[in-house]
Amino acid sequence: MGKQVNGHEVIQLFESFSPKKYAMEDDPIGLQVGQLNKPVKKVLVALDVLEEVVDEAIEMRADLIIAHHPPIFRPLKKLALDSASGRIIEKLIKHDIAVYAAHTNLDVAKGGVNDLLADALGLKDTKVMVPTFEEKLKKLAVFVPESHESEVREALANAGAGAIGAYSRCSFSSNGTGRFLPGEGTDPYIGAKGKLEEVKECRIETIFPENIERKVISAMMKAHPYEEPAYDIFPLDNQGEMLGLGRVGSLDKELSLKEFALHVKEVFDLEGLRVAGDLSSPIKKVAVLGGDGNKYFSQAKFNGADVYVTGDFYYHTAHDAMMMGLNIVDPGHNVEKVMKAGVAKRMEALSKELGWEIEFTASELNTDPFQFL
Ligand SMILES: [Zn+2]
Repeated sequence: MGKQVNGHEVIQLFESFSPKKYAMEDDPIGLQVGQLNKPVKKVLVALDVLEEVVDEAIEMRADLIIAHHPPIFRPLKKLALDSASGRIIEKLIKHDIAVYAAHTNLDVAKGGVNDLLADALGLKDTKVMVPTFEEKLKKLAVFVPESHESEVREALANAGAGAIGAYSRCSFSSNGTGRFLPGEGTDPYIGAKGKLEEVKECRIETIFPENIERKVISAMMKAHPYEEPAYDIFPLDNQGEMLGLGRVGSLDKELSLKEFALHVKEVFDLEGLRVAGDLSSPIKKVAVLGGDGNKYFSQAKFNGADVYVTGDFYYHTAHDAMMMGLNIVDPGHNVEKVMKAGVAKRMEALSKELGWEIEFTASELNTDPFQFL
């Protein structure tokens, strides 16, 4: 039997890689229906919250649905139970199933929808196509007795601190003297209550992206021998890593546009897709953006892409793209279904590490509204 957890803990774990701050403005992400203040044992991961998906959640006795597309996208004007949207909310509340939406924040996140799409297409050397969020850097300086220097340094590096570009485990140490007077009620690791102590200590400095602060500090605290470790955290003005929407990467070998489009069709198991451009043109560099990426087509071209894979492409925008020499492959939104297995697997692994009693299941339903005749 693992540890029982509540909805807040599940979402906190999810937001450790897909925090809300990554979302575009006005994207209605987060808890949309129900509450998180309850035990959660089963989670259904879905692309869309349609009525069939809610039925699937009821059937498997899920406590929570993590969905990519927010079911309440525009403010509701009414909650009539004779409408599908009303019935969905009614069923969710009657069965105490919460719905949490992670939309553009999951698109931006590392290992999120766009990375999953790029991986599925087999893209190499991928980079962000449209930067939207700078992951700010922080510096930690911690004072450690010399006996525990390497232990604390190890713990910090294992928590992900000290990564600069392609370098990892970067840190700096300097030696000095620490002084302290243990007061009433203390149980000092070194020295005794009421006696001024001097200890050979070192100051370890390292940097980390803001989003892993909690993990870094708790790893440091665990490895540090003192009851009250002395440490400072500094915000930095250095340029942090840019995260964002879409990915640009290269195929292993050059394909024609026709071969590439068929590759997309096969990878995502689609009945059909739309292609714009000369079917014989060579494709090596690929831009992909989950969802509706119309407004970013010039960034795809600017990043050197031969083809841009995105959903809901407009007729006239396709003309503009073709005139620019950019080919378009539009497989719709349903390719974002890769998030179901991706998120379920990742959450399953993270919660297993923590010894949680919880199951994550990818929804088995196909919610693509379109068919091809
Ligand atoms: Zn979408």
